[in-house]
Amino acid sequence: MARDQTTLERALLGRGDHHDHAVIARNVGKAFDDHAVLRDFSLEMRPSEFVALLGRSGSGKSTFLRVLGALDTEVDGYVRIPRHRAIVFQDPRLMPWLPVLRNVTLGLPQTREVKEHGLATLAEVGLQDHANAWPRTLSGGEAQRVALARAMVREPQLLLLDEPFGALDALTRIRMHALLRELYRKHRPAVLLVTHDVDEAILLADRVLVLTEGRISLSTKIDLPAPRNRSDPRFAALRRHL
Ligand code: ADP
Ligand code: MG
Repeated sequence: MARDQTTLERALLGRGDHHDHAVIARNVGKAFDDHAVLRDFSLEMRPSEFVALLGRSGSGKSTFLRVLGALDTEVDGYVRIPRHRAIVFQDPRLMPWLPVLRNVTLGLPQTREVKEHGLATLAEVGLQDHANAWPRTLSGGEAQRVALARAMVREPQLLLLDEPFGALDALTRIRMHALLRELYRKHRPAVLLVTHDVDEAILLADRVLVLTEGRISLSTKIDLPAPRNRSDPRFAALRRHL
């Protein structure tokens, strides 16, 4: 497989003149051994655009998210992503030996300003009283709030979410939807949300994509203010497609 590492490295550094896009991915190809997972996958996202990516298990959603998070740079094609980006997985991946606030400010210099910013971000996710708590004392929903705070504290221009609410119960998931909407409204990052849940995609995103066998097989723009009526007939085609 041909590699265009130089283009990719340049792209990952965020150079270039495409200031009207938060993400440019063109003809991205990825294979594991001889199994092609992404084939000519292209996506452009505007700043502050909220895109949901749906697809069956194994269709390549996480692989693409890892490319956009620069966790996987061994790909073909052209990728341009902003310097400030953050990723949240289904599993919150907190460091159990660090209290909550230190998890939020992980990797940042521990200055007074950073701590204050971390506390303010914890307040935004409703956990200001848990700054000194240990991760093991948190519920699943609280731990995922900390993971969201750890992402938002970096003021990302691109927020990558890989089935972030997949492990939560239905009521907690509804609360997390409200929290994500609130964070998005305040900070306006571009968001790429990978999800299994078509209702979640319709509820939150400006554009819903379906990934099938490594390519986008359906793209639906949603020109309605969130939150939306899930039974709107405009979404019937999307449901049928899945
Ligand atoms: P999704 O997130 O849509 O469920 P993934 O992107 O995780 O799908 O995986 C897509 C395909 O790529 C699957 O067939 C998976 O087995 C394969 N795959 C993912 N990561 C690796 C890897 N590190 N090595 C080999 N195969 C992989
Ligand atoms: Mg996945």
